[in-house]
Parts: sequence; structure tokens; C-alpha cells
Amino acid sequence: MALGTFLKPVRANPFWKLGLACLVLLVAVIIGADFCVVHIFHSDAILVGAPAARINHDLANVRRDLWVISFVILLIGIGITLLVSRRYVNRVQHLEDFSRRAAGGDFRPLPQEQVDDELGDLARALNDMAAHLSATIRSLTEERNRSAAILRSMVEGIAVVDARGRVTFCNDAFAKIWSIGSIGIEGKPTVEVIRQPDVLALIRQALAGGQALDGEISFGSANPRSFSVTVAPIPSFPGAIAAQQDIASSGAVVVLHEISDLRRLEQIRKDFVANVSHELRTPLTAIQGFAETLLTGALEDQQHNRHFVEIIRDHATRLSRLTNDLLKLSRIEAGKLDMDFQAVDLRLLIEATVESAQDAANQNHLSLVAGSLSANLPRVLGDANLLREVLRNLLDNAIQYTPPGGRIEVTAMAKGNSAIVTVADTGIGIPQSDQSRIFERFYRVDVTRSREAGGTGLGLAIAKHIVEAHGGQIWVDSVVGEGSKFHFSLPLAV
Ligand code: ADP
Repeated sequence: MALGTFLKPVRANPFWKLGLACLVLLVAVIIGADFCVVHIFHSDAILVGAPAARINHDLANVRRDLWVISFVILLIGIGITLLVSRRYVNRVQHLEDFSRRAAGGDFRPLPQEQVDDELGDLARALNDMAAHLSATIRSLTEERNRSAAILRSMVEGIAVVDARGRVTFCNDAFAKIWSIGSIGIEGKPTVEVIRQPDVLALIRQALAGGQALDGEISFGSANPRSFSVTVAPIPSFPGAIAAQQDIASSGAVVVLHEISDLRRLEQIRKDFVANVSHELRTPLTAIQGFAETLLTGALEDQQHNRHFVEIIRDHATRLSRLTNDLLKLSRIEAGKLDMDFQAVDLRLLIEATVESAQDAANQNHLSLVAGSLSANLPRVLGDANLLREVLRNLLDNAIQYTPPGGRIEVTAMAKGNSAIVTVADTGIGIPQSDQSRIFERFYRVDVTRSREAGGTGLGLAIAKHIVEAHGGQIWVDSVVGEGSKFHFSLPLAV
């Protein structure tokens, strides 16, 4: 049976056809074809014949082998594809996890990539970027923490407000100024936090105008406080939200600096200058007046000239006492007073000072006694001359402000690490409202009485400075009409 297999028509030149025919014949010989017809000159077809059964059998074998081989190749291909794609998917998954972690602030690096392909390059680039970002964020965080710590520890009240006027940060000092807790302030509108229209107006102007503004505010009636206020705008980035809202800055920094002490000191200085001028003017006017009176004829007036000269002398004495007290006060305040600290026997000091004031007390018909002072009263550490001056000052006041027939007693006792000296009189007393102020310079309860008695209004101020320079305290208990008790404490000598 002749079986033929049609080969593809070959459109070639005669030589090709001849070559092809030879090849077919060779194949036919090799496969043992029963017959072989090669028709190459009248047609493009080549016919090769072979026994049909063998060819079918061989073809079936070939087909089966082909199927098996294809199937095996397919399986291997699928396996390799699965393996490769699974590895890729895993690596991409890692990269995805990493980017998600990094977005959340976790910059731990990816495991080192061994493969030198695009994904490996990408992983290495991401690792570098993460390390860089991590370092930048760490240094920014450190910087921010440092700034926050500095701002929080500052005595100035500091707050940051955003473009909408909401507080985004404030330190404890700021919260304390407005008597509110610092927790929960952030996010609140400034009007709810700052209850001062002037400050709010400054913030509004700074946000709108983009320029730093200064001001000064005072508030509180019982205990007034003064602050200097600075509002500095935070420049906004181009195209930021603030720009769209007709606001020149993205926020502002508000700084409140307390200047109450400064203002108080200024006031004290002004009062002091006014007081000194006033105190000097009175005796100077008197001296000038009486000197002119004498020169314009009173000098010849035998009846009055002596009296006028005595008046001039008294005022001159007062002037001299005043200038001496002022000098002493300024030296103490400037810390220029020479102090010779020694262990001082308080009992001896009290007895000697009481003794020296006895004449003045007798002249005013007062009994002045050193109370029962125990013989073993501990010694105190101090400058004996200055302590004597303090005691003499208190005794002079007690003599001045106690009506005739009254009694003045000086006592001392040890209490803890201190000795407390008390000068008690049965004098006019001091109203409660004046008691806290009598240690101020030039403060007098009754100015006329003090001047008449030759007081300068500086005695208690000097006493207070001296006692405090010894590390002690001075205070008064007094009831109007019943008398006063002045106490001062001194540290014991060890
Ligand atoms: P002065 O020179 O006026 O006595 P001081 O500073 O010594 O000045 O005293 C201040 C004021 O305190 C006095 O003007 C007086 O009003 C009051 N004062 C001081 N000591 C007594 C006292 N023992 N009794 C009543 N008032 C006193």
C-alpha cells in the first residue's frame, strides 16, 4: 500500500528541487520505503512512500513520546514559573511591608538583598533612603525635644497660635499667668485662654500684618501684675492655607515677660526721690527763712534772735541726721557696710543699750527696763555695733511713741537656732493696716508727729536691713491704744 506524505510545496529553483529530491530518496532508503516516487519537474509536490503499518506505528510512537515530553516540559515550566514568581511576589511583598512600616515611622532596614536585579537595587535604594530619613527624623526629634524643653523651662510665658488663632503650644509659665492648667489648652481658641483684649488685638494684628508687635499690659486689682508682650508672626510658606485666607502669616509666637518687679522698683525709686526732696525741702526752707529773718533785722532782736538760731540749728541737725541715715541706708543696700561678725553676748548688749537710753526715757517720764534676761542666754552671731544701733532705734521709737507714765521693756529668749529680742511698749500702737508698711523707707503713720519728734522715717528701714544682713527677721505686733511689741531674731553663734 502506497502511503505518501505531502511535504510542503517548495517553490525554488531547479537545483533546490533536485537537492530536495535526493534528500527524500535518502530518507526513503534509510526508512526502507517500499517505493518512492519523486515528481519534481511537473509539480511542486514531493511524494515519499513507505509501508503504512510501520509508518503509522512509528508515528504513534513519536506522537506519544512528543506528548509525554511536552507534558513533562510543561510541568517543569509551570514549576519553574511558580517558583520564580513566588520569589518575586515575596520580595515585592517585603518591599510593600517596608514602605508601609516606613510610612508609620518604623525605619528598620530590609534584609540584605543578595540578588543583583532591579528589585535588589530598589530594596537597597529603599534601605538607604530609610536610613537617611531615620537619621533626619531622629535629629529633628532631638532638636524639637530640646526646643520644647527650653521653652517649657523658660520663666517667660510662651505660646504659639496658628493662623486661625488657636493655641498650638504653650509653656507652664504661660498657663500660670492666665491661671489655667497647661493640659488641654492646645487646640483652644486664644479668646478662651487669653482674657486680655490688648493681647488678643496684638495677636490679630500680627497675624494680619505679618509684623512683630510689642505692648505692655497690667492686670489684677488686688495684686497688679505687669507684662511686656511681644507677638512675632511665623512667616507662611508660599501657597499655604494662610495666604488664601487673607492672613499674612501661618501663626504667631506670643511671649509674655513679667516686669512687675521692674515697675515696682521704678515706682519705689520715684517715691524715694520725691520723699528725699520733700524731706530735704522742709528743713532747708526753714533754715533759709530764719537765716533771712535774722539778716533782715532779727539779728538785733535780742528777744528772738537766739530762738531763731536754735531753730536753724535744730533743722540743720535734722538735715545732718537725714543725710547720715540716707548714706547708711544706701551703703547697706549696696552691700558696702563693713560688718564685723563675732559671738555677741546679748545680755550685755541689751543692758548697755538700755542704760544708754535711760536718760531719754526719764525725760519722757517712762520706765525703761531690761526684762529678766537669763544669765545663760546663748551668744548670737553678729556685729555688736550694728545690733546696738537696731536696739537703740527701737528704744528711741518706743520712747517717742509712748505717752508719759508708760513702760518699755526689753526681753530676749532663745528659740531653736535663733535668739529673739523684743522691745515692748505701752504706747500709742500702730494700726493693723500700717504694720506691714512701717519698715518701708519714709513710711510714717503720723508724719507730723514723727517730724516733730525729729524722726527721719528711715529708722525702721535701716533696722530691717541690718537684721536681714545678719540672717534674721524683724516684725511687729501692735494694738492701737495698748502698745507695740517689736521683735527681731538673730542666729545663735555656734
Ligand atoms: P521715724 O523716724 O518716723 O520714727 P521709723 O522708721 O523709725 O521712722 O518708724 C516709722 C514709723 O513707724 C513711725 O513714724 C511711727 O509712725 C511708727 N512707729 C515706729 N515705732 C513705733 C512705736 N513703738 N509705737 C508706735 N508707732 C511706731
